[in-house]
Order: sequence, then C-alpha cells, then structure tokens
Amino acid sequence: MSRSTPFAVLRCASCGRTAWPAPAMCARCGGLAFDAEPAAGGTLESATTAAGGPDGEAVTLGTVRTNAGPVVVARVIGARPGSEVALRLRDGALEAWRPRRARAAA
Ligand SMILES: [Zn+2]
Repeated sequence: MSRSTPFAVLRCASCGRTAWPAPAMCARCGGLAFDAEPAAGGTLESATTAAGGPDGEAVTLGTVRTNAGPVVVARVIGARPGSEVALRLRDGALEAWRPRRARAAA
C-alpha cells in the first residue's frame, strides 16, 4: 500500500530561508534549526521524459518552483511546463500532478 503525505519544505528558524531537500545547515546563516513549511503546489518550469522507472517505463521528471520558494525536482504526472501543479510525497518520492479544477478561478 502506498503512503501519500502533503509536501513541505524546510524553513530556517533563524533567517527564514527555505530549502529542500533538508540541508545539514542553512546555506544563508548556518542555522541548524528548521520548521516545516507546507508547499502543496507550485509551477512546473520544465519537464524531461526518460526511460528509467523500476520496470523500464518512461518517467517524466520536472522542476517545480514551489509556492513556498525553493525549486524542487519531482516526478511529473499529466502536467505540462508552465502549468500549476500540486505536490505530494508518495512512498518518499516527490510527485507533481495537475490538480483537478475543484475551485473556479476568481
Ligand atoms: Zn538561515
């Protein structure tokens, strides 16, 4: 059974710089304490597809600028560069997918 959890980046408790994956220390101030900063979504900036999945299937990896700040690399599911994506961790791997239009644009 797969486990899905909301994605969060880490925010330095001293200076507020955000980072992901978890750094050993803050790249800006050297701080060692971090708080979780929810990053449930972002914008897909680029995507590359290559054969490389566990069963040899094609896998699309993309860079996502999260709405919390950091740019992260995630497995892309059904989204194109330039589009808004939602982020989640599934079995420890980061996934970005195109959310359903549950809310109408204001
Ligand atoms: Zn810092």
